[in-house]
Amino acid sequence: MLELNNVTTYYGNIQALKDVSLIINEGEIITLIGANGAGKTTTLMSISGLTPPRSGQIVFEKNPIHGLNPEKIVRMGVSHVPEGRRIFPFLTVLENLDMGAFLRKDKDGIRKDLKYVFELFPILAQRKHQAGGTLSGGEQQMLAISRALMARPRLLLLDEPSLGLAPLIIKQIFSIIEKLNKEHNTTIFLVEQNANLALKIAHRAYVMENGNITLTGSGHDLLSNDAVKKAYLGI
Ligand code: ATP
Repeated sequence: MLELNNVTTYYGNIQALKDVSLIINEGEIITLIGANGAGKTTTLMSISGLTPPRSGQIVFEKNPIHGLNPEKIVRMGVSHVPEGRRIFPFLTVLENLDMGAFLRKDKDGIRKDLKYVFELFPILAQRKHQAGGTLSGGEQQMLAISRALMARPRLLLLDEPSLGLAPLIIKQIFSIIEKLNKEHNTTIFLVEQNANLALKIAHRAYVMENGNITLTGSGHDLLSNDAVKKAYLGI
């Protein structure tokens, strides 16, 4: 579904990604783990067009998407939930969700998807007229995911959904990620600091260090890999 071939991305003179290559097959949950500053966020931003690569190819469903603007990439079926949630704090929950669907014209489909996200996260239905900024951190994360889902993505990019949330809320969000994958046929690319949880739900995983992919394998295999255990699982 998605292929990165030798992608390099820079911020000015700083090279954040060095020849990154990876593959995501339709229907998979893939996780990318790594230390702070390894280049995980930049990988997602390169895919969604927010920080376009300087060289290399990014191919989504056989179409090259490197060099396309972010709006076009969303239209093709790739939605990005950025780190730190970035919902619109002064808009209501409903207005935030409308923003997620702003590229769509199919009113019936939008209504159906709204019903779907309210079933996934009933708390958002209860708070639909409340300003986004008044929600708790967990609820804002639910809103950020739901807003991305309103674009009806086939590939969902999630950047650190667990960041700053209580364990119970993290558990709830991870179970929704699995549900989206299994029941809604959404392919997931998950960037996480919480390597333990992420590897548990991932079909496959990549490890990133200093802008390079250094290791790949099934989530299960990486959980028992000694180097991963030492560096990312604190075991
Ligand atoms: P974190 O878990 O802290 O978010 P990360 O693995 O997502 O880390 P990136 O945010 O992709 O890492 O950063 C990769 C490298 O690019 C780091 O060296 C970082 O300092 C640098 N970098 C990131 N954003 C910028 C920017 N806007 N300007 C300059 N350098 C940046």
